[in-house]
Amino acid sequence: MNLPLNIDFTGKTVVVTGAGGVLCGDMARAFAQAGAKVALLDLNEEAVKKVSEELTAEGFIAKGYKANVLEPEMLEEVHQAVLKDFGPCDILVNGAGGNNPRATTDNEYQHEAKEGQKTFFDLDASGVDFVFKLNFQGTLIPTQIFAKDMVEKKSGSILNISSMNAYTPLTKIPAYSGAKAAISNFTQWLATHFAGTGIRCNAIAPGFLVSNQNRALLFNEDGTPTARSEKILKGTPMNRFVDSEELLGGVFFLCDDKAASAITGVVLPIDAGFAAYSGV
Ligand code: NAD
Repeated sequence: MNLPLNIDFTGKTVVVTGAGGVLCGDMARAFAQAGAKVALLDLNEEAVKKVSEELTAEGFIAKGYKANVLEPEMLEEVHQAVLKDFGPCDILVNGAGGNNPRATTDNEYQHEAKEGQKTFFDLDASGVDFVFKLNFQGTLIPTQIFAKDMVEKKSGSILNISSMNAYTPLTKIPAYSGAKAAISNFTQWLATHFAGTGIRCNAIAPGFLVSNQNRALLFNEDGTPTARSEKILKGTPMNRFVDSEELLGGVFFLCDDKAASAITGVVLPIDAGFAAYSGV
């Protein structure tokens, strides 16, 4: 992987939750390549073990840990293991998050709802709870556990992952949109709360990325954009999708104590202009 900025994280302990996933797996790799000792946390133990073993084989310092970001006791055990393996946490990336089909409507507009579709009125309260809990509590709880190291050291950086839907909600996904708006808000709250301790807290808001999971939704078999894809591109001034590696410059910049020494409480859109454009 080509690193976006020449920032040396040697000696830093970086904890990345959701590191078994697409985006945060890449972030963990990038931090390891930039010299950090990287703890990869995920419910999916196999996924983080695979990435950490690859990194170790390449000569980088990384280890995978099974962790549920919603279980404080389990996270505290992992925290103790990370302290023993790598030392106190310097940088925490709260990456675990996502949506759930039970909290998603089939139709964009109620007046277009067809027989048999899951509408707003069919949304499942437990699905909505799941999404709010995973994204919000799944950021708050790991921060309670790992930011204690930073308070003691009087320095550290927390990076949360917000989304485009935090600015203006996207159709069909009311719970995920609300939960990510809560993440942007919480980023500002944490930045203020920790301002006197030497800890900075920021977020990135990734734009629309093409991944293996959504490729079929965005492109027809002949490679032309689907109707949904065309809508996204029309709303994106740079008229293209964002590559996952394009997130890394913002991640490195915000997490570096020198480059972003006076930056706390910001949510950085990395979105090819989507959030800036009103559509007119
Ligand atoms: P992903 O689904 O590939 O990865 C998420 C990871 O979180 C998975 O490995 C999963 O096992 C893990 N996870 C889920 N629940 C967990 C729990 N309770 N405890 C620990 N780990 C848990 O997702 P991604 O696309 O890499 O997204 C990463 C972050 O970026 C998420 O917060 C997501 O909401 C956000 N995001 C993604 C996009 C995108 O286009 N992919 C855009 C904006 C924001």
